[in-house]
Amino acid sequence: MPRPSKIVCVGRNYADHAKELGNEVPKAPLLFLKPTSAIIGTGEAILLPPASVQVEYEAEIGVVIGRRLHHADLREAEHGIGGFVCLNDVTARDLQRSDGQWTRAKGFNTFCPVGPRIAEGLDWKELEVFGRLNGVERQHGLASEMVFSIPVLLAYISDVMTLEPGDLVATGTPAGVGPLAPGDVVEVEIPGVGILRNPVRAYDE
Ligand code: MG
Repeated sequence: MPRPSKIVCVGRNYADHAKELGNEVPKAPLLFLKPTSAIIGTGEAILLPPASVQVEYEAEIGVVIGRRLHHADLREAEHGIGGFVCLNDVTARDLQRSDGQWTRAKGFNTFCPVGPRIAEGLDWKELEVFGRLNGVERQHGLASEMVFSIPVLLAYISDVMTLEPGDLVATGTPAGVGPLAPGDVVEVEIPGVGILRNPVRAYDE
């Protein structure tokens, strides 16, 4: 997969997840960026940085942009979807709280597992995502239950920044996030796309 020009992420886009962290459901999409240097593929290790004691998984539906979107309407946004990938928005939850903004918490190397392939031709309305830790299901979300739908997100983002082909949009995580420890194996599955599987290790192992 070619490296995207940016990874645009959406926070609190499932009501049950906003609630589990004690947050309100936002009135407009809550956007942040992850650096492309955080990307790893399936099978590669998520490295736990010494700066954090609470690194958590977030299973998400990733959208790969297929055509340039700028000030897109909903129809253009829907046609701008190039495919879907499993994405893990790995987050240092303690740093997310203490820093006041999310660049460090979301930006460590290896904090954006993506894969195992880009699946084309799927209907976004039918997608669902599962998060599993050591084989146990912890998260399950339906695209149809998002606070802001995928076309709404793409149109909203494209009013801020041009989405280029290959760019990634992480569409938010359902309830059930939790901490990772060395030796864990975390999986994100989107039926029809595949399974993204990553082991977890400490930085200094
Ligand atoms: Mg997230």
